[in-house]
Amino acid sequence: MIPKTMKALIAYAPMDFRYEDCPVPEISEDDILIKSFGCGICAGDTKSWRGASMFWGDETHPAWLKAPVRCGHEFCGEVVMIGDRAAENFGLTLGDWCVPEQAIPCGKCRYCLDGERWLCEVHNLYGFQGGITDGGMAEYVKIDGRSIVHKVPKSVGVKGGCMIEPVSCAAHTVERAGITLRDVVVIGGMGPIGLMKMQLAKLKNPKMVIAIDGKPNRLALAEKLGADLVIDYTKEDCVAKVKELTGGYGCDVYIENSGSPQSVLNGLEMLKKHGRMVEFGVFLEKTPVDWSIIGDKKELTILGSHISGTEGYDIAIDAIANKKVNVEDVVTHLIPLKDWQSAYEMAERGDESAKIVLVP
Ligand SMILES: [Zn+2]
Ligand SMILES: [Zn+2]
Repeated sequence: MIPKTMKALIAYAPMDFRYEDCPVPEISEDDILIKSFGCGICAGDTKSWRGASMFWGDETHPAWLKAPVRCGHEFCGEVVMIGDRAAENFGLTLGDWCVPEQAIPCGKCRYCLDGERWLCEVHNLYGFQGGITDGGMAEYVKIDGRSIVHKVPKSVGVKGGCMIEPVSCAAHTVERAGITLRDVVVIGGMGPIGLMKMQLAKLKNPKMVIAIDGKPNRLALAEKLGADLVIDYTKEDCVAKVKELTGGYGCDVYIENSGSPQSVLNGLEMLKKHGRMVEFGVFLEKTPVDWSIIGDKKELTILGSHISGTEGYDIAIDAIANKKVNVEDVVTHLIPLKDWQSAYEMAERGDESAKIVLVP
């Protein structure tokens, strides 16, 4: 029996998130109701809790988040109710596990029509628009019928299920980097997604994958999960080290994952001429850069990467289900949803955790 009410973490305003009772969503013929068995905490979740303007707006741009909203986009769950049309459209049945892509495509904008659904201009993302894309930090979640839904093999387990969305982001970035057998690849920032990018980059079998971070627990994890070399930027000059390893030339690929201005500057410095930089990080401050390094000095290729692309979920589900990547060690904590605040604070510190999954 599906109850009428449930517990969820709801965002009302910056620093005003509440764990409280709310109605279990109702679904139409086109939708699916899932029981969420966990939802990861993303840097975006903690930044929105702290009131970052990219969510709540400021003088120059309007709010994108629509409050109140049930938080969380890194979730997976079991189908507990499904409309007839949804069953037909998605090929799912009661008891299946599934995950929706984070962005619900509007189907009408130029990006959706051009097959670039993850860039949809409307940009409704699970966990950010109340009433449209209420998220997975709740006992039940409505999967809107316009979503792109992937069936998930149960062998992935709870940790694997909740890592599908972050791994899909990692996969898209690594695909964007166009890594070849000859490349020396450097990844700046070993948060949970950085750790997944490092592992996916290794699957491309380049000459070397180097992981950079400043936290001992994360560097230890990167080493355990297969990085060829880890550099603690608080102890070592990472630019000098990479240059030294590459005969003075520099690395072929730099994946910027941390959202820190210094990481951008380091990347531009340590890339060889004709190197490629992929930017994924989300920044709280601006990064002043001497642009002549991009053109006149090095003829660099600068690429951006945003969420999963079209390919991310397929790659993520295959890589997790077939144990091509280790997610079990990246999810360091499973914490009851009611303890969300201490979990958010622990995720922000990052010195004792990698990915934290909240369990409703
Ligand atoms: Zn995320
Ligand atoms: Zn669209």
